[in-house]
Amino acid sequence: MTTTIEITGHRQKESWAQKVLPPVEEVRPGLWSIPVPMPGNPLRYVLVYALVLPDGIALIDTGWTADESWQALVDGIRATGHDITDVRHVSITHLHPDHFGLVPRLLEHTDPVIAMHRNDARHLRYHNDDELARQLADMQAELDIMGAPVEVAETGFVGFARMPKGRTMDVELDDGDPLNLPGWNVRALWTPGHTAGHLCFIDEDAGVIFTGDHLLPRISPNISTNALQLANPLADYLVSLAQTEQLPDVEALPSHEYRFRGLADRVTGLLEHHEERLAEITAAVAAEPECTAWDVTRSVTWSRPFEQLSVDLSRMALRETHAHMVVLAQRGVLVSSDGVPNRWSPATASTTSTPTTIKESAR
Ligand SMILES: [Zn+2]
Repeated sequence: MTTTIEITGHRQKESWAQKVLPPVEEVRPGLWSIPVPMPGNPLRYVLVYALVLPDGIALIDTGWTADESWQALVDGIRATGHDITDVRHVSITHLHPDHFGLVPRLLEHTDPVIAMHRNDARHLRYHNDDELARQLADMQAELDIMGAPVEVAETGFVGFARMPKGRTMDVELDDGDPLNLPGWNVRALWTPGHTAGHLCFIDEDAGVIFTGDHLLPRISPNISTNALQLANPLADYLVSLAQTEQLPDVEALPSHEYRFRGLADRVTGLLEHHEERLAEITAAVAAEPECTAWDVTRSVTWSRPFEQLSVDLSRMALRETHAHMVVLAQRGVLVSSDGVPNRWSPATASTTSTPTTIKESAR
């Protein structure tokens, strides 16, 4: 990938290389980075950010659900000179358990304002057993349409952390909304793609953007079609990236890996990555017309041979491949049949519509 970003989280980068947890760091006066471990996950840790307020602290994200993670959050907050009960406000970048996961446990100790985007918040409200069963059935049906074999279509979906029964989200943030944190000038940026309600948070006065999983320095975030997403998540992501490219060149404080500068360069690298991937998938369908998304997933390249991927990783690979195919259908490059599974072929001249470019489809 041809990016020329500048790593600014030097101690984080060293810790990454040494496979240890980075230190709690004060990134700006009153702005702290708190690494919270993700036991057993190759991402290793999520970076929670704490902003000091006149009467306590505000958090951006909370961390993974494990006991070890909770302890790291409690200890990290103590290292800032505060207590877990001082948390007054929590903004969540997106619904995934490494970001939202500790919210229910935090609510057992204190009662902060919880804010996130409605597209993600609606999945996190308390769900009864019937609703969970329906969600599982939707996910299974989707995987059948993609042509997943039985062992992959059995989603292994065990549910994730949600709001406690009776507790609703306090604030549903929209694009551009200020967080109204005294002493800070943070506003939300809606960056759908990784999830339908993904938010970044920018404070131009402090010269920082909290990028969540939208932009990470090294890896490309997973963009997948699934029941919690909008219809064309990769198209949303490409638009979000194009918008991020227009932002002032502030320091990026991501949720994983390490801090960096060079937002526009990072965006360019990610756009190139997805265009290469789209080209590879187009070629794979051309080589095997009437194929399923699963067939394509098996034939394109992965970081290791496809046969070596676990069932969970192969399901993730399938959803990611499918997200690219949906973009190619929107651009008029591929067509798919109805029916289970969908069968994909190159668009013939008569079915080809005018391709939509990223700029044209920008909101
Ligand atoms: Zn994450």
